[in-house]
Amino acid sequence: MGSWDYSIFWKEALNQFKSELTEQEFSMWFNIEYETSGESSLLVSVPSAFYRDQVKQRYQNRIEAKLFELSGQHIDVEFEVKPRKREESPAANKPVQRNESTFEVQRSTYSQPYRAAPVQEAPRETHPQLRKDYTFDSFVIGENNSFAANAAIAIAKNPGTLYNPCLIYGGVGLGKTHLMQAIGNMAWKERDCKTIYITAENFTNEFVESIKNNKTQDFKNKYHKTDMLLIDDIHFLQKKNETQEELFHTFNALYDASKQIIFTCDRPVSELKNLSERLRSRFERGLNVDLLPPNYETRCAILAKKIEARGTLIPSEVINLVAKNISSNVRDLEASLTKLIAYAELTKKPVTLESAQQQLRDSFGAPKQNNVTIDTIQKVVAEYFSLSSTDIKGKKRTKAVSFPRQLAMYIAREITEYSTTELGMEFGGRDHTTVMHGCQKIEERLKAEPSLETTINKLNKMIKDYNS
Ligand code: ADP
Ligand code: MG
Repeated sequence: MGSWDYSIFWKEALNQFKSELTEQEFSMWFNIEYETSGESSLLVSVPSAFYRDQVKQRYQNRIEAKLFELSGQHIDVEFEVKPRKREESPAANKPVQRNESTFEVQRSTYSQPYRAAPVQEAPRETHPQLRKDYTFDSFVIGENNSFAANAAIAIAKNPGTLYNPCLIYGGVGLGKTHLMQAIGNMAWKERDCKTIYITAENFTNEFVESIKNNKTQDFKNKYHKTDMLLIDDIHFLQKKNETQEELFHTFNALYDASKQIIFTCDRPVSELKNLSERLRSRFERGLNVDLLPPNYETRCAILAKKIEARGTLIPSEVINLVAKNISSNVRDLEASLTKLIAYAELTKKPVTLESAQQQLRDSFGAPKQNNVTIDTIQKVVAEYFSLSSTDIKGKKRTKAVSFPRQLAMYIAREITEYSTTELGMEFGGRDHTTVMHGCQKIEERLKAEPSLETTINKLNKMIKDYNS
């Protein structure tokens, strides 16, 4: 061990980042502790492997550039994982100092618990509000949800310390409730974390009921004294002003005591209406992660997992058939499976490709209007502007490409039944908000330039004629 010590540069770098970044960003991603220095390197520690990967990707270059700027020499930053120790039992009225946490002596990795699970005489029973099959084991990770799933695992292993609060958002049936409850199940079972799961609707009902019965203090006691609060489907709170107010206080009490709070929502918080500004800013604090519809491979894997869980056998060609035809969400995927299995049990006949095709004709849905596919729309619009479909779906953002792309999105939105989420996927895996934004741009332009309508009509006709 030499006598290098770059800690002073590290400290100064942190100081500068603190003023350069927003408070939120800094407190979220600079939970980094200086460890030691080498000849031309500096070792720091972070609380989890997931955190390390995120920090490296987001900030490593920037940190190294800053250290160069400060010290005049190249200092490589190396990361190690040292899970932070959770306070044993923080006094309820004393906020936990986030950055003062100590480290475990042993060097543990991300998948090992940072605190030994409490010794239990008997296995824990099932949590009264959590479904026991909603676990990480039964959750299939694909590219559509890997960021959210990894963040969820990190939270379950470090409740209250890493990403607090966390908001999981995405369309119906994409696994928000499953993922949220998987966090609850793991933290409750392995960390003895006092956990409450409730839908925003029931939270509202319970609150209203407590007012009626003069029991608001009991209500507060219950929600302010938990270690982890999971509130599902917060879009329900729109217009519920008094409940919003109460949740705001609940949020502050838990947040100040470093208790984990997780929400789910069917859309990004920015799209919620009738929500108080201060509650909105609380929801947006911390980590916001989205769930997208799974791709074909992930759909097959999910089906296989569900089949395994039910202990039945379904031929793989049937799995492929279902996965190919049902792309909207996981709930529909599962419903088709249930239908096939129920039918097989009733008739005591095995599921075959033919029987499945017949059974699922309805679920596969009527073809979209006029059989127009997004592919056709993209081809026609691209051709019209002397581009290729790849340009339309690609990443380029020059005007020459982005206007035709927005136009194609707009037309697709007008003449097909696809949701903005599905359209986003078809347009190069973009977010649904990008599609909405694109459509909005065209609408604005239509107001200013009526001639655009002629172009759109022309394109519509070409799209209709394309297949005939
Ligand atoms: P949401 O709350 O987003 O509407 P849910 O969590 O209720 O969706 O999920 C709907 C169904 O799909 C549940 O049965 C859930 O187990 C299943 N599901 C969703 N995503 C996955 C996944 N990645 N792996 C396994 N099952 C999933
Ligand atoms: Mg749900």
